[in-house]
Amino acid sequence: MRSPNPAAFAAPSGPARAGARTAGQPWRTPLHTQSLHTAPTDPPAAPARQHGDGLAARSLRAVWHPCTRLRPGGDRPPLAVVRGEGPWLYDDEGRRLFDATSSWWVNLFGHANPAINAALKDQLDTLEHVMLAGCTHAPAVELAERLSALTGGALGHAFYASDGASAVEIALKMSFHYWRNSGLPGKREFVCLRHGYHGETVGALAVTDVAVFRDAYDPLLMRAHVAMSPDARQAAPGESPREVAQRALDELEALLQQRAASIAALIVEPLVQCAAGMAMHDPAYLDGVRALCDRYRVHLIADEIAVGCGRTGTFFAWEQSRGRAALGAQQWPDFLCLSKGISGGYLPLSLVLTRGAIQQAFVADELSRSFLHSHSYTGNPLACRAAVATLDLFAQHDVLAMNRQRAQWLAEGLASLAADARLRHVRQRGLIWAADLHEPFASETFAADFHRAALEHGVLIRPIGNTLYVMPPYVFDAPLANWLGERLLAALDSVVAPAGAAREARHAA
Ligand SMILES: *Cc1c(COP(=O)(O)O)cnc(C)c1O
Repeated sequence: MRSPNPAAFAAPSGPARAGARTAGQPWRTPLHTQSLHTAPTDPPAAPARQHGDGLAARSLRAVWHPCTRLRPGGDRPPLAVVRGEGPWLYDDEGRRLFDATSSWWVNLFGHANPAINAALKDQLDTLEHVMLAGCTHAPAVELAERLSALTGGALGHAFYASDGASAVEIALKMSFHYWRNSGLPGKREFVCLRHGYHGETVGALAVTDVAVFRDAYDPLLMRAHVAMSPDARQAAPGESPREVAQRALDELEALLQQRAASIAALIVEPLVQCAAGMAMHDPAYLDGVRALCDRYRVHLIADEIAVGCGRTGTFFAWEQSRGRAALGAQQWPDFLCLSKGISGGYLPLSLVLTRGAIQQAFVADELSRSFLHSHSYTGNPLACRAAVATLDLFAQHDVLAMNRQRAQWLAEGLASLAADARLRHVRQRGLIWAADLHEPFASETFAADFHRAALEHGVLIRPIGNTLYVMPPYVFDAPLANWLGERLLAALDSVVAPAGAAREARHAA
């Protein structure tokens, strides 16, 4: 069994490697002290660190951190990361941390992956950027061709952007514009799922149903229909995940029956609603929504920004919509959004794939029928090249087959957690594993408490509310999965009374 860089994936033994962090500390060499065109001289030795002067403290003063609260009493300093290698991150104190959630679900083949690094270095010396309007370049073309081939040619015409939210905006606009070009301008509403997440720009937020991200901006947002989620955790006693999915489909059909003439598209996160807390559903739901969208003439947008690129066991999550049977062209979604893992977690890149028939509706002499959407860095060559190198890794190392093995290792490594009485709704789809804290132990501070405790145990992880999940890079072996399970259990013990005590407490209650 081969992995791209076995040495980097081995389970840790002994203390974290110090010393390696002396290499590459760019912030110690301020740009303005040297010409951009001469080789940097060795940076001066770092001054002794004074309290409040470290990278983390400077960051709090200089950087407005994403998805982070500002509190009157001052904030905890962020983790200052100086280096990454394989699944490991190293902080400025030489601590080694396992990147258990792939740096917000983007990393696939580890940090500083030698193959992606080499491709990027070559691209850097060849062409760093050129605009994609009126110009083209090999990485953008090759990536688009190869992604289309991965859908058996059903989808293609890659439209590039940089962030996931931008890809969602593009899909929404394209869908509406397609109907308008087709003489149906009244089809301008969108349907999203309960607790769905599609990004945080104003258009994407309108089809997002996560209160913490949405509520403050609600007055700014376009109105979308929110349909029942197929989340299998909603099962009534005796109800199967498939029956929950069917209930969600029935509800959706009732809405479409009434309003399809006004609806442009339905947007879904196939198989796993990640930001909702890794809510998973029966794959039959996907086949069901495809049929409903056909019947009621509504576009189907698959947001595979988080679940694409092999996370769920197939390259596209959608490939599981018919129990992994080969898909006919009509069985794919009408739009498919990718981002996050597509560049291997290296550079901001997103894209929308769609059908030839949809692109055809934009072929016209009139300006108003054209899709005049762009971003400055659309199709950036470095980002596309990182993505091509990522696809190369999939092909060269039979990653999807290896990931089936890794999913098994993950299940085994986390088996004691899965059996723990403090957790319930244990679920796994490919390389996404999740469980919820049982109600008696749930708390508003669990996510933050567990995050801090796990750091002490060598793991970087951020639960979502009371959902503990891991989504590791595809670079671990069985011993490392076991190590991860032990560390997470230890972290859990330090924030929630151990299971025995907990069980007694529950019985007493
Ligand atoms: C992360 C995510 C997005 C938004 O991507 P950004 O790059 O953060 O804008 C959209 N949809 C899903 C399903 C995501 O997980």
